Amino acid sequence: MDDAAVVAWQLGRTPRGPWRAASRCSFGFPTTIVTVPVTGSGEPFPTLYYLTCPHLVAAVGRLESDGLMEVLRAELASDRSLTARLLDADESYRKARAREGGGVDPQPNVGIAGQRDPCAVKCLHAHTAALLAGIADPLGEVVLKKLSAECADRRCEEAT
Ligand SMILES: [Zn+2]
Repeated sequence: MDDAAVVAWQLGRTPRGPWRAASRCSFGFPTTIVTVPVTGSGEPFPTLYYLTCPHLVAAVGRLESDGLMEVLRAELASDRSLTARLLDADESYRKARAREGGGVDPQPNVGIAGQRDPCAVKCLHAHTAALLAGIADPLGEVVLKKLSAECADRRCEEAT
């Protein structure tokens, strides 16, 4: 399978800098990509994992517009164990980014979704991508429980 062709079709553009698939659906198509945290021109790029699956991108977008981010912010404000798990996930994300950056994290002050404060919850796509890529992200878990993990129609076949 030509990941580059599939991901370009999924995103409608070519990802910035070097990347590879970080997770795949059961049909074998990339669902998340991992990018190097510094672009070729030396510019820091804090988004380590990016959700590319068109089914998930749309489904997560619907959850965002239905107000799930506000619900999760409120839960984080009252649930210390959820907050602790999120902070652990954020730490793992920063460590993974440093590994991808050759041991140096170019933007250690921002974590998942480019946030300084993980509890502010700005983008559920970023949390879903982190979970699929192997970070134990509790917000990604909430999201994935609310939707089907993949499409039924193998829609990315259109790209091949
Ligand atoms: Zn989002």
